[in-house]
Amino acid sequence: MKLKTILSNIILTSTFSVTTVFAAPHWAHEEQEEWGAIEDAEQLVVPHMFPYATCGIGKHQSPVDLAAQSQKQKLNNLKINYGADFPVFYNSGHGVQVNTSLQYEGRIKIGKMAYPLIQFHFHEPSEHVVNGQTFPAELHFVHVRDDGKLAVLGVLIEVGEENETFQTILDNMPHEEGERNEGTGLKIKPASLLPRKHKNQYYSLAGSLTTPPCSEGVEWYVFAEPISISNDQLDRLISFYSDNARHPQDLNGRVVSTSK
Ligand SMILES: [Zn+2]
Repeated sequence: MKLKTILSNIILTSTFSVTTVFAAPHWAHEEQEEWGAIEDAEQLVVPHMFPYATCGIGKHQSPVDLAAQSQKQKLNNLKINYGADFPVFYNSGHGVQVNTSLQYEGRIKIGKMAYPLIQFHFHEPSEHVVNGQTFPAELHFVHVRDDGKLAVLGVLIEVGEENETFQTILDNMPHEEGERNEGTGLKIKPASLLPRKHKNQYYSLAGSLTTPPCSEGVEWYVFAEPISISNDQLDRLISFYSDNARHPQDLNGRVVSTSK
C-alpha cells in the first residue's frame, strides 16, 4: 500500500475506527488537556505506554495564535495544484473528512518539494486564532511527501455566502462514525474551498498535528483570507461534530512568518 493511503486511512484519521490496523487508544476533544497522559493498555514500557505523549510535552504544537508573534518574511514559494477528484466522503469519528482517491494527483509545491493532497477535513470552531479571534470553522488540507513529511494548508472559515462544494460534502457525508461513502461518481473541486483572491498571503509556522498523536515536524500554511459558508451550512457541520477543535498552544519561542 502506498504511504499516502496508509496515512490517510490510519494515522491521521481513524484511531477510533474498528478497521484500524494499529490499534490506538480512544481520545476525544473534550479531554484534550489529558491527551498526553492517555495510556495504551496493551503496551508495557515507556514511551509506548503513552502514545500521545507529544500532545503534552511537545514544544512545537499546533494550533497557535497566528498574530501573537508574527514577522513579515520572504516565504517559500507555495504553489497549489488541486485538480478535480472523485473522492471518498468519510466520517472519521472526529470530524467531517474527504479522502482523495488513489489516482488523485492534486498536490502543493513548497519550493521544489511536492506534497500530494491525501485528505481534507473540518473543525468547528477554528483551531488557529488571529489576535485572540476565533473563526466559526477551519478547513485543513493535509499533504504528505514521499518521505512521510507532512504539510497542512489551513483555511479559516467565516459565515457569509454559501459554498457549493461544501454543500456537496455535507450532503454526502455518512452519519455513522467511521463510515465511508465511496463510488458516488461525484466530482469535487478542492480548489473551490480556497480563498478567492489572496492565495499568496499566508502565515507559516513549524507545528504539529492538532489531534493525537500530535506529531511534530508539520509545516503549516494558513491563509490570511477566510472563505465563507452559509449559516445553514455551519449548522449542518455542527450537526455532525461541534467543538472538535484543539485550543491554541504555546509558541515556545517560535515566530510565525507572514507574507503580508
Ligand atoms: Zn485538522
